[in-house]
Amino acid sequence: MAGRNSLFIPGPTNMPERIRLAMDINTEDHRAMSAPDFMVPLFEDLKKIFRTDKGEVIVFPSSGTGGWEAAITNTLSPGDKVLTARFGQFSSLWIDSCRALGIEVEDIDVPWGEGAPVEQIAERLAADTQHEIKGVIVCHNETATGVTSDIKGVREALDACNHPALLYVDGISSIGAIEFDMDAWGVDLAVAGSQKGFMLPTGLGIIGVSQKALQAGETASCPRFYFDFKMMINQARTGFGPYTPAMGLLRGLRASVDVLLEEGMENVWQRHHRLAEGVRQAVVAWGLSTCAKTPAWQSDTVTGVMVPEGIDGQEIVKRAYQDYNLSLGGGLTQVAGKLFRIGHLGDLNECMLFSALGGAEMVMRDMGMDIEPGKGVGAAIEYWHKNKV
Ligand SMILES: *Cc1c(COP(=O)(O)O)cnc(C)c1O
Repeated sequence: MAGRNSLFIPGPTNMPERIRLAMDINTEDHRAMSAPDFMVPLFEDLKKIFRTDKGEVIVFPSSGTGGWEAAITNTLSPGDKVLTARFGQFSSLWIDSCRALGIEVEDIDVPWGEGAPVEQIAERLAADTQHEIKGVIVCHNETATGVTSDIKGVREALDACNHPALLYVDGISSIGAIEFDMDAWGVDLAVAGSQKGFMLPTGLGIIGVSQKALQAGETASCPRFYFDFKMMINQARTGFGPYTPAMGLLRGLRASVDVLLEEGMENVWQRHHRLAEGVRQAVVAWGLSTCAKTPAWQSDTVTGVMVPEGIDGQEIVKRAYQDYNLSLGGGLTQVAGKLFRIGHLGDLNECMLFSALGGAEMVMRDMGMDIEPGKGVGAAIEYWHKNKV
């Protein structure tokens, strides 16, 4: 098909030219004397993305899921109990992975479209006077529904009853895109992946680890080898890792960190908010609603657009790709067919987003939905015009 693909899946995200070119390098000697000159500052700067001075950042050659597994196995022992909530595909997968690794999970079932139930979490924690709960796991940004949870609120719930459980956050579709403050929120394990906010190909699991989490590792007895924090942490400190580092991706990560820090994290967050708000204005103008049930839950990195009864969301995604070379996200499991998703994170601006909004609008027209041409695009234009930076 002529023309380029318009990529609006909620990860992997669009790659800036500068990041792509940074990975176009000859093979490097990763044991060279000069390796630390590259590696050590990279890990220092990564902390600025996670917003941690006190913690460490560890990078594994894996997708984000490897980062989860590392977070769990490095801090827990088989039979330990964790508390979490299930409100989408990714929060559910955390539960599955914990159980597969021998961790006991107490899960709170929440309707999809809502986020972490802070009050219920607070109640469970307060009732756990014996401190049997060793960890609280929260999916910060549920990519399946487009819902952002209140991590600070969960921290406050832990603090309110002086609960010592570790706080685990899946920040795979939030870190590097929307507000994330590891130290201020007292996050112990913050898991990110290279292909979302970091605008890289898939292949790096990037984890912020607090000193408390490292301490927990001293007694945590889950089997681990490849994903061992202790073995890996020297890479950040000395520049040399325990096995061959993915140098190409790390060169890309260097460029990604530079791109993010040059824009400034606050500006990155604000840009994502403005762009997301324009998308939401379009959804309202289409007469549709977001999967996120209230504005407080709405994610600035991905919007789940609910489709009317009788329309298959999956068909919209399929036609967008086939007819217009536009990639949108589909609905997963519980919401399969009920929505389509527009990913709006990473290297994006207003004009790029017009292709997603205009393309989605065109497909919905093609499918016979009652949508006035330009209605959604017009609403986004008006919002972005009025809120120009
Ligand atoms: C993408 C995503 C994952 C899965 O990460 P992989 O890199 O595919 O392993 C997990 N959680 C969230 C919230 C995600 O968006």
